[in-house]
Amino acid sequence: MAIDIVPRRAWGARAPRGGYTQLDSTRGVKVHYTGGRVDPGVVGDHDLCVSLVQSIQRHHMDGNGWMDIGYSFVACPHRKVFEGRGLHRLPAANGSGLNSGHYAVLGLVGNAGLVQPPDGVLHAVLDAIEHLRERGGAGREIKGHRDGYSTDCPGEPLYAWVRRGAPRPGDGDGDGDGTEAPPFPGRVLRYPPVTRGEDVRTWQRQMRARGWEIAVDGAYGGASRDVCRRFQRQQGVEDDGVVGPVTWRLAWEAPGTPEAAGTPEAADAPEGPEAPLT
Ligand SMILES: [Zn+2]
Ligand SMILES: [Zn+2]
Repeated sequence: MAIDIVPRRAWGARAPRGGYTQLDSTRGVKVHYTGGRVDPGVVGDHDLCVSLVQSIQRHHMDGNGWMDIGYSFVACPHRKVFEGRGLHRLPAANGSGLNSGHYAVLGLVGNAGLVQPPDGVLHAVLDAIEHLRERGGAGREIKGHRDGYSTDCPGEPLYAWVRRGAPRPGDGDGDGDGTEAPPFPGRVLRYPPVTRGEDVRTWQRQMRARGWEIAVDGAYGGASRDVCRRFQRQQGVEDDGVVGPVTWRLAWEAPGTPEAAGTPEAADAPEGPEAPLT
């Protein structure tokens, strides 16, 4: 399927304040999320995507003081690719000093509301990346904003996908994040009393890998139970604080969602002159 680009004129982009810095090529692309709440209603209404992209541009220009929206392209749930700064132009969203190395592609998901990227977003991110490779001199790297920069961006679900090599949805990827849970240990992990063992350590390590603040000490006490409860609520299952077969499996197979709110994109370093890469 050919890329479905929404040109700047079509989404009502404001003119940039000044000239772009030209880019011959990059090592690849960094993937971003909005860092805020995205109204889940965007999935059913592309007009809301347009409003959101406009508001992001406004925020970047009037809030961050950037000359334009910071992203090269923006991918929406309808598999449309909004033209941001576009091809061969220095983005601003990767953080100061990191923009000439990678183009910046935003997936329209956030840290609240629409958190899980719909297939349309993933396809559109990949459409943008292929376009940048074919026409923009982008190299093969696909990374997250957090690679080399202190931010939660692009959030757990998008980042997990990036780390898996950014597969096309439907390429045998399954529904979850592609990870299969190890066999359930055959006993539930609960507190009180403290449950101890290697199975506890395995679960704690996995929860930590998902971004939860939890000690990997092989002892399931009050702190582990509290993490378990919060995770269960996040996953929409009964929050009994007991790791049974379902909660065990979800720890590996549920798409990731960060517990803590991400660092908003507004916290990004201001756009500034950057030394050319040598
Ligand atoms: Zn970002
Ligand atoms: Zn859309």
